[in-house]
Amino acid sequence: MNIDSLLSHIDQKPESGILYLVGTPIGNLYDISLRALNTLKNVSLVACEDTRQTQKIMNKYSIKNNLISFNMHNSIKKIPILVNHLKKGDSIALVSDAGMPSICDPGENLVREVKLNNLKTICIPGPCAALTALVSSGLESSKFIFEGFLPKKQSERNKILFDISKNTKTTIIYESPHRINKLLVELKNFCGGDREIQLYRELTKKFEDHTGNHINEVIENIKDKEIIGEITVLIRGINHSKQDVNLIILKNELNQLIKAGLNLSSASKYLAKKNGIPKNIIYNLY
Ligand code: SAM
Repeated sequence: MNIDSLLSHIDQKPESGILYLVGTPIGNLYDISLRALNTLKNVSLVACEDTRQTQKIMNKYSIKNNLISFNMHNSIKKIPILVNHLKKGDSIALVSDAGMPSICDPGENLVREVKLNNLKTICIPGPCAALTALVSSGLESSKFIFEGFLPKKQSERNKILFDISKNTKTTIIYESPHRINKLLVELKNFCGGDREIQLYRELTKKFEDHTGNHINEVIENIKDKEIIGEITVLIRGINHSKQDVNLIILKNELNQLIKAGLNLSSASKYLAKKNGIPKNIIYNLY
């Protein structure tokens, strides 16, 4: 493949003092733009999450450049160094291991610091797992909520799961294969087993796989299977009429019913029916 001749048609070269945020493939190495390749080739240096990962793309397209590591473990030390490079007039490309930098990947803090120093950033857009899943889902895709990875701490997680159960828009979540079963059970508890979800596995790769159905059925389908690969989960939003439940008001009502003599189970059942939401959500508020 003669990439050089293709790139020779691009008459733009990276400008000095600019941080370029470059989107790279989420699996399929052909999903990279000519502009991205041109930038990776011509910037002064490429800051990458894992140099070995980025080297694979560089090798694929026979590009040589200076790679330096920039990840969440070394970012505090590396941010001032990179900002100094920009101030000296270098151009830098920032890439993550996959997809768009700054989307559940390192980048945000560097971009903020670059802006604080009145330096310029330019994004060279590329694939993003969230949008790739969303546009092929058939779910509402012009308005959506991106949650990324849910927090590990259960109380924070429950709060977000509750919000998701009330979202009227499509929600997008990133999850690792070894935690997907736990996430599905939680989604069932909060959203009810008949909510539609879609699981996208290994997008753009050879074994790309889509599973979509009610949560109950998806749980049943993957029950005894070993799930491997990268996963993005989409959850259909609820009808607007079901959304107006406020967590604090619900908790107060629950406390009042219990004070009035109802046990937790009956009070939760009553409020679940009244508000059209699963009983566990209310039960867990206590
Ligand atoms: N920056 C990336 C982006 O723009 O999508 C996301 C990086 S985040 C660290 C990695 C997570 O994204 C994975 O755990 C998975 O949830 C999702 N993901 C990445 N590649 C994927 C793929 N090919 N198929 C499905 N989900 C993917």
